[in-house]
Amino acid sequence: MQEIQTYNVNEKGYYGQFGGAFIPEMLFPNVEELRTNYLNIMSEPSFQEEFQALLKDYVGRPTPLYLASRLSEKYKTNIYLKREDLCHTGAHKVNNTIGQILVAKRLGKHRIVAETGAGQHGVATATVCALMGLECIVYMGEIDIARQAPNVARMKMLGATVVPAKSGSKTLKDATNEAMRHWINNPVDTHYIIGSVVGPHPYPDMVARFQSVISKEIKSQLMEKTGKSNPDYVIACVGGGSNAAGAFYHFLDDLETRLVAAEAAGHGIDSGHSAATTFLGKPGVLHGSKSISMQTEDGQVIEPYSISAGLDYPGIGPMHAHLFDTKRAIFYGITDNEAIEAAMELCKLEGIIPALESAHALAVLSKLNAGENETVVVNLSGRGDKDLATYQKFVV
Ligand SMILES: *Cc1c(COP(=O)(O)O)cnc(C)c1O
Repeated sequence: MQEIQTYNVNEKGYYGQFGGAFIPEMLFPNVEELRTNYLNIMSEPSFQEEFQALLKDYVGRPTPLYLASRLSEKYKTNIYLKREDLCHTGAHKVNNTIGQILVAKRLGKHRIVAETGAGQHGVATATVCALMGLECIVYMGEIDIARQAPNVARMKMLGATVVPAKSGSKTLKDATNEAMRHWINNPVDTHYIIGSVVGPHPYPDMVARFQSVISKEIKSQLMEKTGKSNPDYVIACVGGGSNAAGAFYHFLDDLETRLVAAEAAGHGIDSGHSAATTFLGKPGVLHGSKSISMQTEDGQVIEPYSISAGLDYPGIGPMHAHLFDTKRAIFYGITDNEAIEAAMELCKLEGIIPALESAHALAVLSKLNAGENETVVVNLSGRGDKDLATYQKFVV
């Protein structure tokens, strides 16, 4: 049953002019099988029961909504942190991989394929494959394998096969191509788990629905704490956009809540070393859907850059392209230095070490000028343990 929501996907898989499924013909049967089944599967009571039980007892949900008093004092407003950093595996990504592996099982699949850049999605996928006893194959660029050794070790400990992508630039987009090829060659027994609100329809909508538990919890937790379910602002970082989609989802049509997205501006929006997609990008097709992406005049993908591996992506999902296009969400470009400063501030004021991605969302606080009586929710998408090697360079 599709709710009528202005900012949500329509029956054709579009958010305004963005979305759709731009895929090679050979992928059509796989994507079509998913498209015709995902909503029915997700609405089955037995599915919901299993999904909710795992979110509670395995992931550790609901995650707390924490009133950050010292941070609030500093910015003279009321700041709540949604603690996705306390999820099992250290970030929000597992909300989606749990959901998708349950869908895969109901479609009769016994092998999972995924691609990963920094390795976080690979770890979240390997985790749920171990949990369910399914075979897990993760494609990863050869260069990324060398750069992200701890996550490669995690995936292997969890029983996954990590396959190096040796073509092209040997990074995420090459891993994506090879994972797609694997799926085309094994359509009957394999499900492809995409890690963000990107890819052909129905992936962006399916992933947004699995992550929407974040905003559902924010609403009821805020109601309990303040007597009002809608904050004035919800801030989240955007790589592909899954944690933001989850944090925004149940506020999309509540216009009194302003939605704020933080993109990685790297060394500066115009520095040539950035991942600030909405500032630098154009409409175009990337990874199976029409959205906004960073591209040259003749449509070649521009290599993105960010200090944060999870935001180092040349596009955003179609939902976010539409939120940008309609101005429903406000976008900020946050530089590496601003993110580091915000991370150090959260450590000092609240005793919480955030993921570098989440630090981009925190950095918006100094630009927002929220009022004394206003309420701001920041989605703290992950914890900073994985980023210690980077943080160490800034600790004197
Ligand atoms: C992967 C990741 C992100 C970026 O992905 P989205 O799909 O944009 O949410 C953000 N934060 C953390 C902690 C991540 O691991």
